[in-house]
Amino acid sequence: MLVINNNTELDIEKMSQVLMKWYDVNARILPWRNKSKNSPYHIWISEIMLQQTTVKAVIPKFKSFIKRWPDIKKLSLASIDEILHEWQGLGYYTRAHNIFRSALIISKNYNGRLPKNIDSLKELPGIGDYTAGAVASIAFSIPVLPVDVNIERVLARINGLFKNEKNFKSKVNNVAKLFYESKRPGDLTQAFMDFGAIICKPNNPLCEICPLSKFCLSFRKKIVGKVPGKKYLKSRKKRYGVVFFVINNKNQILFRKRKNSKILRGMMELPMTPLSKHKWNLNSLDQYYPIKCEWEDNNIFVKAPISGFQLEIKILFSRMGIQENGEWVALDNIGSYAIPSIFKKIINKVLKELP
Ligand code: SF4
Repeated sequence: MLVINNNTELDIEKMSQVLMKWYDVNARILPWRNKSKNSPYHIWISEIMLQQTTVKAVIPKFKSFIKRWPDIKKLSLASIDEILHEWQGLGYYTRAHNIFRSALIISKNYNGRLPKNIDSLKELPGIGDYTAGAVASIAFSIPVLPVDVNIERVLARINGLFKNEKNFKSKVNNVAKLFYESKRPGDLTQAFMDFGAIICKPNNPLCEICPLSKFCLSFRKKIVGKVPGKKYLKSRKKRYGVVFFVINNKNQILFRKRKNSKILRGMMELPMTPLSKHKWNLNSLDQYYPIKCEWEDNNIFVKAPISGFQLEIKILFSRMGIQENGEWVALDNIGSYAIPSIFKKIINKVLKELP
């Protein structure tokens, strides 16, 4: 099929053939690609893990997750605390909550098997257009090419499309819809994924050995380094908080369980103020102190980006005798709890910087 796009002609069928031929030789060996009766479950978990995490970081976490819960029915019997604990190191814990909720729904409504159509997949928590398309094409051979940032980059470069041009997203999606592979739709999706990771990389794409270079408008126009470019990114909004770090003479740290929060719900955290748009006045903290004690201000701060915000956390410190009330966790036992990485960072910083 010849298609006029961006004032040039694309031979979609020929391009698909070349890409599939490349994939048949160069496909990455990944644990979720092993064929088994639980393949749809494996594809789903891997796609959720890959949403904000690199393949390299996902591989060991995926293996231990699947070893612990080999199918959706077993996963649906797990507690959210167990899933959060297993999720440690991947970040963006909302994904773990979504997997937990989805497993319950799939177990109850679909007898422990993922639904096979895109609309039903999209009704599950945490599954949007891309993940539904990826699971549908790879696990159920539905002919659709989902578009994530990597596939978007490849299609944009081939078509010479810039991110800051009008209707960029819909132009890329329209090109994606033209790739209709009826026999091996999942392989076409994975071919694009692997091609974007190995050849048409974000930086320094390997154009000189690229099998698609003869179709690539950016290559012909010598503008590869500029395509797709960047959209204007807003700077992150700042949020400020104060953490109360209490350690007792048994080397235990005072924690609390995070409740009623969209972010990091159900995990353990150090006691702290709510996040504020303004820096906290240290004279206005009375209602937030977790216990009555003397607080030291050693000018310790931790800064970190989290969920679209740039956090600046000030740490107040107290050392005290044994205290009965509260959730005390021994320093050498912290690894057994699901604790967000921001609090691990705070603990490391305090232990390193305190006199
Ligand atoms: S020629 Fe370069 S920019 Fe074009 S598809 Fe190949 S690797 Fe990507």
